Amino acid sequence: MARTGSKNGDGSSLRALLRIAPGSKVDLGSFDCGATFGREKAKAADEIAAGQTRLADLHDRLWAEAKHAVLVVVQGIDAAGKDGTIHSIMGAFNPQGTPVSSFKVPSPLELAHDYLWRVHARLPGKGEIGVFNRSHYEDVLVVRVHGLVPPERWRLRYRQINDWERMLTEEGLTIVKFFLAIDRDEQRVRFQERVDDPKKRWKFSLADLEERKRWDEYRVAFEDCLEETSTKWAPWHLIPANRNWFRNLAVSEILADALEDLDPQYPPAAEGVEDTIVE
Ligand code: AMP
Ligand code: MG
Repeated sequence: MARTGSKNGDGSSLRALLRIAPGSKVDLGSFDCGATFGREKAKAADEIAAGQTRLADLHDRLWAEAKHAVLVVVQGIDAAGKDGTIHSIMGAFNPQGTPVSSFKVPSPLELAHDYLWRVHARLPGKGEIGVFNRSHYEDVLVVRVHGLVPPERWRLRYRQINDWERMLTEEGLTIVKFFLAIDRDEQRVRFQERVDDPKKRWKFSLADLEERKRWDEYRVAFEDCLEETSTKWAPWHLIPANRNWFRNLAVSEILADALEDLDPQYPPAAEGVEDTIVE
């Protein structure tokens, strides 16, 4: 299969445009969360469908080959669209080969171990595309903002996480990280929808408003995290996520391009199978 990747009108890919280059600065305050890079909403449904077809084909081959494991990390502030993004890409995958893990407040058992213990246990195996809804990154985000461990400990975690992810990629795991960026006013609109719509109300709690008050503290924590942990072996992609259609399009294209790099192949027929006549 031709390894063409997805291209914008000007030949650039969203993967190249949205990847955070290792060592670069991240300024979320001036980031345009409504950017669409010339893509159009009217065409997005077809483009997302095409992306889903590519993802389905790639996962079929990845699963059959059982050689590569892929981890997709989804982070973002409350109401950034983590659940919606995962729902959108999961439609393309074979459910047997796509474990999704959502990381909540750690249990006493989890807290009795190092912070990578619970995430390590949920890593995908060969042939699988594992999805993390929140992740070990909470241990430098919410943990920092709420002072759950002292600064001298969470600061060390950037290096620890980079080392751990490097070891995992050297062992054959491909890591694709997405940070969904919405702005403060978009969060307000989404929270209000959650309050007003009885079908969404279950997602909302008054604690979300307390977190919202810490918007700027989270922004700084996100910026530092993205700057410190976008590495050449496990880069972050910064996704403008105010518009759901663009967010879904960007994530499906970037993920399909990353899977295409692995060039998964159906395994060859076992000895003697090819010319077999089944009677
Ligand atoms: P939700 O994603 O809305 O279901 O909420 C999950 C909650 O768990 C969020 O408030 C996270 O900040 C919290 N959480 C996830 N991981 C951790 C962690 N390592 N330490 C503390 N809180 C966490
Ligand atoms: Mg929540």
